[in-house]
Amino acid sequence: MHSDFDLHLAADLDDALASLAPAAGEAGRPAAMALAGGTNLIVDLRGRRARPRRLVGIGRLEGLRWLRVDAGGIAMGARTTVTDLLESPALAAAAPALHGAARVFAGQMVRNAATVGGNIACGSPAADLVPPLMALDAEVVLEGPAGTRRVALADFYTGYKADVRAAGELITEIRCPPRPAGSANLFYKLARRQGDAITVVGVAVALEAAAGRCRAARIALGAVAPVPLRARAAEALLAGATLDAPAIARAAESAAAAASPIDDIRATAGYRREMVAVLTRRLLTRAWQAIG
Ligand SMILES: Cc1cc2nc3c(=O)[nH]c(=O)nc-3n(C[C@H](O)[C@H](O)[C@H](O)COP(=O)(O)OP(=O)(O)OC[C@H]3O[C@@H](n4cnc5c(N)ncnc54)[C@H](O)[C@@H]3O)c2cc1C
Repeated sequence: MHSDFDLHLAADLDDALASLAPAAGEAGRPAAMALAGGTNLIVDLRGRRARPRRLVGIGRLEGLRWLRVDAGGIAMGARTTVTDLLESPALAAAAPALHGAARVFAGQMVRNAATVGGNIACGSPAADLVPPLMALDAEVVLEGPAGTRRVALADFYTGYKADVRAAGELITEIRCPPRPAGSANLFYKLARRQGDAITVVGVAVALEAAAGRCRAARIALGAVAPVPLRARAAEALLAGATLDAPAIARAAESAAAAASPIDDIRATAGYRREMVAVLTRRLLTRAWQAIG
């Protein structure tokens, strides 16, 4: 059973922003929510976990559906779908972490509808596109009643299913800086099946090297804390180091210490923590070898 709400299919971005803006006196029950692919939100409406007064469909906003991979980095509109990511050979070459996450994302029908903006905004700690985007140092562009602003994805989440968005703000773009020469990025999704399964542990890494040393490292973890997060202490251990096996092992243990997993029907907290160490070690080793 759905809760009662008005549905407005926005004609363009201005219309969407005007319809999402909170009206005076609309306190309490959430006023308006954006409806993109609906693969999360429709399920939440049916389960009465989401009870907006108004749904603003953004499915007609073709201006939010684009993907660009060039010397300026990787950029995409928020309505870019998981299938759009998969169909980009340029993305596969520049960002195997993100392309790899798209490959293990749900089944074909969901991939065709699910958007990058919706994956970020749903706030699930297990959202698969978020760790790779964090490892790629992504920024989120937000547009709303107070104008446009950019927020680092690593600073976007403030708690379980909570983020920095003000009422009426829409994610419009996601941008990652250019990938320097001598860099590599990878993602691994550990789940109970290879496809169409909720992530037990997700790890993404990105390494940049110069003169045989690690110049910068980013490690992002999914499904092991209330929010997807960067393992900053582990990253700091790698910066400036030669990545031999002991250095990688120390960083992997540090990444595991950054996790605060829970027991649930898919895995115990202890298993999740151990798998963070194992996957981080494997991915760092493979990424370092890929840089050569
Ligand atoms: C069978 C099934 C399998 C799935 N498998 C996976 C999986 O393998 N990996 C995974 O990560 N997820 C999975 N999901 C969850 C879901 O598909 C993704 O999170 C998807 O990316 C959500 O995008 P959407 O466009 O459908 O968002 P919607 O459902 O339309 O919206 C989700 C939330 O984001 C908000 N929102 C959407 N777009 C914007 C925007 N531009 N700005 C601000 N807020 C916005 C909505 O208001 C809502 O709160 C699965 C879902 C199903 C039903």
